[in-house]
Amino acid sequence: MLRIWDVVPTCLPLVVRRCHACASGRFRANGKFRVNAHHKLIDAWLLALCAGCGETTKLTVLERVNVRSIRPGLLDRLHDNDPFLTAELLQDPAVQRRNRIALDWDNAWRLEIGEPDHLDSEGIDVAVRFPVTSPSRSSAEPG
Ligand SMILES: [Zn+2]
Repeated sequence: MLRIWDVVPTCLPLVVRRCHACASGRFRANGKFRVNAHHKLIDAWLLALCAGCGETTKLTVLERVNVRSIRPGLLDRLHDNDPFLTAELLQDPAVQRRNRIALDWDNAWRLEIGEPDHLDSEGIDVAVRFPVTSPSRSSAEPG
C-alpha cells in the first residue's frame, strides 16, 4: 500500500545573507514591506531582520517599475503587508536572483505522516510529496 507523506511548511524559511553589523548570516522576513513612489515609478522592498542583532535589511521586490506595469493587486498586497505575499516573494527565483539570497529551510517544515499506526506495518511504500510553490513571477519583470 502506498502512503503519501506530505512536507508541510511550518514557518517562513530564513534568508541567507551576511549581516554587515554582526557575524550572523541569517535574516528573518518580518512580513513588512516598504513602498516608495517617485511620480509613476515604484520601488518596493521586503524587510527582513538579522537573526543575530536585529539589523534591518531590505530585499528589492520592485525597482523603478512603472505603476501601470505592476500586476493588478500587487500594490494593495504590498500596502497591506500580506503575509502570503512574503512567502511568495521569498520563493520567487527572480527576487532571489536580484537580491543574491538563498533560503534556509531548516526547521521551516515538518513531515506529515498521517496515522502513526500505519508505521507498524512492514513493507509500506512511501512517497514524499513536496508543496507546490507557485512561481509568482512579477509581471513587472522586463523579461
Ligand atoms: Zn546582525
